[in-house]
Amino acid sequence: MDARQEIELLVIGAGVIGMSAAVEAAARGLSVTVIDREGPAAGASAGNAGGFAFPEIDPLASPGKLLAAPRWLFDPLGPLSIPPRHAVHVLPWMLRFARECLPARVRAARRAQGALMLHARRTLEPFMQRAGSLHMLRKRGQIRVYESVRAFEAARQSYESAESEGWRFQWLTSPDEIAGIQPGLSPRFQRGIFTQDWWAISDPRDYVLALAEALRAAGGRIVRAEARAVLPEDGSVAVQTTDGDMRASHVVIAAGIYSNRLTRSIGQDFPLEAERGYNTTLPPGAFDLRCHVTFDEHGFVAAPLSGGIRIGGAVELGGTELPPNFARARAMLRKAQDFMPGLRAEGGTEWMGMRPSLPDTLPVIGRARRSPRVLFAFGHGHLGLTQSSATADIVADLVQGRAPAVDLAPFSPDRFG
Ligand SMILES: Cc1cc2nc3c(=O)[nH]c(=O)nc-3n(C[C@H](O)[C@H](O)[C@H](O)COP(=O)(O)OP(=O)(O)OC[C@H]3O[C@@H](n4cnc5c(N)ncnc54)[C@H](O)[C@@H]3O)c2cc1C
Repeated sequence: MDARQEIELLVIGAGVIGMSAAVEAAARGLSVTVIDREGPAAGASAGNAGGFAFPEIDPLASPGKLLAAPRWLFDPLGPLSIPPRHAVHVLPWMLRFARECLPARVRAARRAQGALMLHARRTLEPFMQRAGSLHMLRKRGQIRVYESVRAFEAARQSYESAESEGWRFQWLTSPDEIAGIQPGLSPRFQRGIFTQDWWAISDPRDYVLALAEALRAAGGRIVRAEARAVLPEDGSVAVQTTDGDMRASHVVIAAGIYSNRLTRSIGQDFPLEAERGYNTTLPPGAFDLRCHVTFDEHGFVAAPLSGGIRIGGAVELGGTELPPNFARARAMLRKAQDFMPGLRAEGGTEWMGMRPSLPDTLPVIGRARRSPRVLFAFGHGHLGLTQSSATADIVADLVQGRAPAVDLAPFSPDRFG
């Protein structure tokens, strides 16, 4: 028999979602192969802000975001933009997003997000321990800062309900209290919210590469090839790739923003949209940053990573084909110079990444309609790193025929009809 037929799990996509699923399955004794057309850490997982944002259980699809959107869109370099060439394409997604902002849907999404976040926090440390990457975990928390008392009060209200679910917050009501946690910020920030339950990774790209090493050490394989189609058969699944056909007992589609191209080959389509984000990574020492700092009203974050200070965020609903517009990264860097006096802004590296996002801002985790042997794990939007260990645990449970620890109904691939 061809050795390729003995693969128990074939994972398509070596981002943080696919690699975590692969490492977890290998740790449970399955023979695992990962294929990626560019190799590990090629997509959004490479350059993100590195936060494990567990307490962020409010879905992004919410009335507050919907109300703020027109004002943000008015500012060409503000936190939300839509390139005119993509506006028509993204309209159906935006209408679905608007529908998800109805109160009952927000409540349901919040419950689902909360359960997944709890599972993510529960699974992360044991997962990293097994993967030999626990030394990359940082527990320095995150501070959100506000210029306007009104914006602070609105955020406080939403975090207060997260507080009642066990997440810890500290309300900061003066620049001095903010400076007690993160010195050196502009005194224009009068209010802050500190969350010690935000954790971080030393560097998101290094983390995915470490997972790749952990997989190889556990006997798994990583193949550089592009998957073209997924074809369920009796008792197995065939995957057509640029490296020839491969066959496995189970296949996971974890190809980030490109997952839809593969799910269509088995007859399922998803309203998956690229929320493009931008950042600039400055050399280490550019600022004495003690923890993640989020400039909430401006939609970007300053992240302390082992390789430097990463400044960025924002959302550009620009699809996958348009070239990056790095003016967006520069606009955030200019604001950061105002907000963090003394920031040394030279020598940075710019990056753009595509968050794979569904209109209800929840991921798809579950089985394909046409075959229980094909699993979907994509669409984690702003929270892929945060939810990676939980997703890996759930995927491995599904492969092994065990009941997952989290109710998967809200994440069902069938929820979009
Ligand atoms: C600016 C920014 C900041 C962010 N900050 C955070 C944060 O602080 N915390 C957090 O939790 N999340 C954050 N995110 C979101 C996070 O980065 C994503 O949710 C996550 O990386 C998605 O991971 P993924 O594995 O699904 O996709 P990706 O990392 O994009 O991986 C998909 C992989 O699939 C491969 N692939 C695609 N198609 C094929 C094919 N046909 N055949 C083979 N391989 C294929 C690609 O090459 C790629 O390697 C941020 C995102 C951005 C853009």
